[in-house]
Amino acid sequence: MALKGLDIFKLTPKTNCKDCGSPTCMAFAMKVAQGALPISKCPHMAPEALAKISEAAEPPMKTVEVGAGSDGAPPHKLGGETVMFRHEKTLVHQNLYGVRIDADAARMDDAAIDATLAEALGMDYERIGERMYVECVYIVFTSDAARNRAVLQRVLAALDPGHAPNQGKSRVLLLECADAAAAAPLVEAAQGFKPVLCGARAANWETMNALASSKGLALGVGGATLEELHDTVEKLEAAGNKNLLLRLGDPAAPSAKDAFASAVQIRRAALKDQDRTFGYPSLVDLAALAPGDSVTQAALAAVFTLRYGSIVILERMGYAEALPLYGLRQNIFTDPQKPMKVTPGIYPIGGADEDALCCLTVDFALTYFVVSGEIERSGVPVNLLIPDAGGYSVLTAWAAGKLSASSVAKFIKEGGVEGVVKNRTLVIPGKVAVLKGELEASLPGWEIVVGPNEAVQIVRFLKTLKR
Ligand code: SF4
Repeated sequence: MALKGLDIFKLTPKTNCKDCGSPTCMAFAMKVAQGALPISKCPHMAPEALAKISEAAEPPMKTVEVGAGSDGAPPHKLGGETVMFRHEKTLVHQNLYGVRIDADAARMDDAAIDATLAEALGMDYERIGERMYVECVYIVFTSDAARNRAVLQRVLAALDPGHAPNQGKSRVLLLECADAAAAAPLVEAAQGFKPVLCGARAANWETMNALASSKGLALGVGGATLEELHDTVEKLEAAGNKNLLLRLGDPAAPSAKDAFASAVQIRRAALKDQDRTFGYPSLVDLAALAPGDSVTQAALAAVFTLRYGSIVILERMGYAEALPLYGLRQNIFTDPQKPMKVTPGIYPIGGADEDALCCLTVDFALTYFVVSGEIERSGVPVNLLIPDAGGYSVLTAWAAGKLSASSVAKFIKEGGVEGVVKNRTLVIPGKVAVLKGELEASLPGWEIVVGPNEAVQIVRFLKTLKR
């Protein structure tokens, strides 16, 4: 619970010595409560009081790192949220998606495991500058140690073909095994991935905590009820472990309704009620909530993307599942306060050199990626010119005065375009055909051509354009 000024004052030495720069201990406490001064400014605080205030000043939801990171890229971060809804401010760490692999051969034989992995690992594309891929593989182990080892090796080989350094390590491995003794060799074999150890419950939290802590791994913890989960997390925290993921719903009796209710209640408790025991990211296994029903799983994946599933596990992830889901995630986890912009400049596409014609569009990221993709598809070399248009779409930028004949002419003359590009043909978006006359007047020597209204018409337009 966040401390108020009076609470902090009660913990100060109350000597009014002014060593902190404030006239009284009360004035100092008020400033600390407002966040204007750090508590460390008072050199006379007792260590216990300092610890209590520092803990109260922590953000309500912890940021947990999962995975080993790859090629210099840091591990994935989850949690750290400060608001319930994106429109309140912004959500900071996007959820991850994963596929479930069952070590139980009766549920998944080797062929099924290979097919699931091949489909999931093959799903890899870029959208608006962001790589879209399946970040997690969640393995549910059995009591058969030999089968567990074989399945883990199969997954590791698929994730890390040829055991090249760092290859595949951008993915997060989650190991679900409620028996710490059985999990220990599996954790050891997968240590290079820094896996998440899942399966801690009220009955086994001590042994699971000992294993996860000794290896520096995040620990997935679940409970039959929210109360049981809360109690287990309290015990883990008291034992010094704050590197946790909360399993949504009862692992032994999975129900979509309960898992969703848990997701909302846990997030509300952490952010609204300042209950830090529930201030952790979450894990939801949709393969357990709707087994064999890929349509329901896709719908639930969208629900848990919107409402607080930090890692969302499905039975399979191909392009059909991924395209809507990853698009939704990208929309939810972008900062609504910042326009999605690309850097203004000259973007040569299709091997364009100084003789290639110029096309103009705006710096709104979605427009840029759609237009540049269509130009690339046409096979025509083009220098794509991107002026600073405020991060708006073409018509919005024009209506807001951010894309005008004078701003484009200034960009071409003063932005170095004329020094880099010799071709003097400029194709402008059809939606701002109105700029043609003014641009011809402002850019002597340039031929201004009105291009198509829609990006989908670009390929045909460029192929038939006489240059
Ligand atoms: S330094 Fe500490 S004891 Fe002295 S006035 Fe400031 S808060 Fe009070």
